[in-house]
Amino acid sequence: MNNPRILTLLALFLGLSANAGAAEPCYPQERADEYILQFQIAADTFDGGLELCRTSTPLIKLFKTIDYLRDVRFSDELRPPFVPGLIQTGYYEYLKSRVRFINGPLAGCRGGSDLACAGGRGEMVVAKGFFELRTPLRASTLVHELRHLDGDYRHVPCTQGNEKGNARSCDQSFVQGGSYAVQIEYLARLFLFAKDISDGDRLAAKGLALYLAQNKLNATEFKGLKAVLLVEEETGGAFLYDGTHLREFKSKFLGATVTARDRAFVVMHGDRSKPAFVFDPYLATEIPSVETSLDPEIVGRTIVEYNKTWPAERRSSLSDTIRFGSAGEQALLFSEHIDIAGPAAIQSSAQTLPPVSRWIQDSPCMNEESPLMGRSTDGQIFAFTVQAGAVKSSKRLACTWPADARDFAKLGSLSLILLADGTLARQNQDQSMTSIPELVGKQFRQMVRLKEPFFPDFVQTESR
Ligand SMILES: [Zn+2]
Repeated sequence: MNNPRILTLLALFLGLSANAGAAEPCYPQERADEYILQFQIAADTFDGGLELCRTSTPLIKLFKTIDYLRDVRFSDELRPPFVPGLIQTGYYEYLKSRVRFINGPLAGCRGGSDLACAGGRGEMVVAKGFFELRTPLRASTLVHELRHLDGDYRHVPCTQGNEKGNARSCDQSFVQGGSYAVQIEYLARLFLFAKDISDGDRLAAKGLALYLAQNKLNATEFKGLKAVLLVEEETGGAFLYDGTHLREFKSKFLGATVTARDRAFVVMHGDRSKPAFVFDPYLATEIPSVETSLDPEIVGRTIVEYNKTWPAERRSSLSDTIRFGSAGEQALLFSEHIDIAGPAAIQSSAQTLPPVSRWIQDSPCMNEESPLMGRSTDGQIFAFTVQAGAVKSSKRLACTWPADARDFAKLGSLSLILLADGTLARQNQDQSMTSIPELVGKQFRQMVRLKEPFFPDFVQTESR
């Protein structure tokens, strides 16, 4: 657990109270009695007694978690692939039908988890770490454990992702429908369909769902989904395009620059005194008009940190930045060197560099892809390797940047080229170009690649 990215994520998921100081009402006696009876909860092992007005004790937190499973309503929808309907009944009914008694709070479970565990004849144990999570994530933890009570859903060693090598910490795939799958489905429901929950809860649910989907499933079934955001030259109109579906947003990106940050965009005004904001194209149909409260830890950490903490280095010779590493490393391209800004330090390259003028995310090279690639003004493409936080070597790739291209993006097998005149075309295998009928007549200023969007369904909001 010494990966800084995991620690950052964990910090995000902690249940920091938004309204500390405001007096909360006492927990209702009737429900407390009901849960104590239903789940044979020994109140004295939790708090040394039942004190319903001390609202942040482990026992009250447990009650509120059960309430969350019971009271949060969803609009009644299935949305494969993330909400295929693995759990069809209500979650509280699921809990009641599987759990006979709840024990805790223990320091940790026998299997090593410090969150929760379940086994035997319907016993659920909640441990120390459980109580440090936000309520929706505690609820998702219970859903996870319930699946273990459904039968033979055991974990296997992780073979990819942040937890690669950890024993009994992952599931093989989502389609198997194990504990992580039902937990991801529950979190996706919270994010997509829950009624009357806070934006903070919604985003925390999405953040954890993403983390689990990418690091707790050995099959990489949710990787490789891609889309681009296109910004129109004249009007600032914004379109999301995945090669098949096209979605137009109501608002305009006038006078703003858009930068991709994982699954969201950072929109920066031309006037830098105005706040930059993050924008999740799968959550919103309109671009927010004020700085949003979306948590930058989820969607814009690197650029926010860069803008905040390193102003001295934002000098004119900085020509481009790109995020390339799994820990959020950022490569800063200066005219005379490259800096790698890692989670802990910033290091400059020592060696002489090829004449790279900007970073690129995709190249037309068939079998040569690298996390860190740049191109020169005459279209040559270079790949860089980074070791111990600094650029170690560079290599010229066999292909060149398409002539006359302002930008280039790959969506699976589809290659998109934004031409110098602002039109967008598909590049075929034989290098010929085909126009895209829905986009004919439009001229774009920017094409920004969105990496692995988690909710790829364009149908949920208006489409053309
Ligand atoms: Zn488990």
